[in-house]
Amino acid sequence: MEKIEQIFTFINKKTEELEKTESSTYLESVLTTLKGILDGKYELPFEAATKEEMRKAIQLSILKGMRESSQPNHQMTPDSLGLLITYFVEQFFEETLKDGTISILDPALGTGNLMFTIMNKLDGKVFATGVEVDELLIQLAGEIAELIEQPIQLYHQDALRPLLVDPVDVVVCDLPVGFYPNDDIAKNYELSSKEGMSYAHHLYIEQALNYTKDGGYLIFLIPATLFESEQAEMLHKFLKKYAWIQAVMQLPENIFKSKLHEKSILILQKKSDTLRPPIEVLLAKVPNLSNKQALLYFFEKVKIWKEQNTRK
Ligand code: SAM
Repeated sequence: MEKIEQIFTFINKKTEELEKTESSTYLESVLTTLKGILDGKYELPFEAATKEEMRKAIQLSILKGMRESSQPNHQMTPDSLGLLITYFVEQFFEETLKDGTISILDPALGTGNLMFTIMNKLDGKVFATGVEVDELLIQLAGEIAELIEQPIQLYHQDALRPLLVDPVDVVVCDLPVGFYPNDDIAKNYELSSKEGMSYAHHLYIEQALNYTKDGGYLIFLIPATLFESEQAEMLHKFLKKYAWIQAVMQLPENIFKSKLHEKSILILQKKSDTLRPPIEVLLAKVPNLSNKQALLYFFEKVKIWKEQNTRK
């Protein structure tokens, strides 16, 4: 058995036992199991695992638990998209990452799969902060962080309220999509709807810009229809005022369950007086992620775009 499978089998067995004895949900029992491993109550019956083996094994158990609860807005960001986002972070911060660190904020952390995928890849080079409103999910993120030894600052709160976070180099966010229920908070945003409820995903973009350094980057997974809604014009105007659009990339359809769930990647750079806007926006279609040849070609295209866009 592979290490990942061994760890998953161990966690799954303990979790199923706890589910019965504690009459808790599978996901709650995963949390108890992870705590038990950290406290030394449950000892993993094999040699040490790598951070990636651990992350992937826990991810499998969380996926199992999420299938049970199936809240579409809680879905974790798949590894393939996490790795693609990491690639862009590496491109934008190539120089800094050679011997320095970068700060990253995910204001919709979930259980942290997106953030931990990035952190494991850029091991030791990320100062990470995560915000999540759901108590169980953020607790799971906390336990996972300890188990994979990736330090992260966690805030359990509504990310659309003021945050105690210093502006970061990069915001990454798989945006929660839908209407935001708190009109009192929404009205503090330029992107609040003048009639009816505001879109949480629009407010999220504004809030993310509030916590990004001038010249910093924002990498969002957005609904593929973001620029087609009746509030899109307002969003366009807002973006023009505060950000430079660096890239809009359509993701392969086969990653998503249905057309309704399709997402794209939007990359922004917060405007800065000391920098100049990109010469060209990267508009691309990401190929099927299992097609190695097409992916290599895509990365080559990104590299050329980046070189042409780097102003001397
Ligand atoms: N990237 C995450 C991962 O890999 O696990 C998944 C993010 S999921 C698509 C969106 C997350 O945003 C959910 O976990 C949801 O609970 C959280 N969320 C939604 N509205 C929020 C809010 N106002 N403040 C903080 N978190 C929120």
